[in-house]
Amino acid sequence: MEEDNKVICPVCEHVITDFDEEISDPCEHVMLTYVDTLNGEFVHSAKEAEDLEKEMLARYAHLEETGEDKTLDELMQTYADENEGFEVIELTTYGLACGPVSSTEYHLIKTS
Ligand SMILES: [Zn+2]
Repeated sequence: MEEDNKVICPVCEHVITDFDEEISDPCEHVMLTYVDTLNGEFVHSAKEAEDLEKEMLARYAHLEETGEDKTLDELMQTYADENEGFEVIELTTYGLACGPVSSTEYHLIKTS
């Protein structure tokens, strides 16, 4: 199902990201999107995920206070593990800008 440079929604099979075509088009099942090169913020959040985004960011801010080392994608994974009907899909892409760069994007998908 999942191809190398694509993120496909497991619910509606919509192409969320196509790295080769430079497409980034979240469908309604994408609750939150996080890219690890942008620390501390989500690049996309669904309207219905507004509270969830706030909760995540509050949790993240609290982690920094307590000195725990967790990233937002780990919090998303934890959320998906603890809540039924959610899963995280990730895609790592490699490019050559000024030297090799890789970035990983994480999508929190609402599957039910
Ligand atoms: Zn979808």
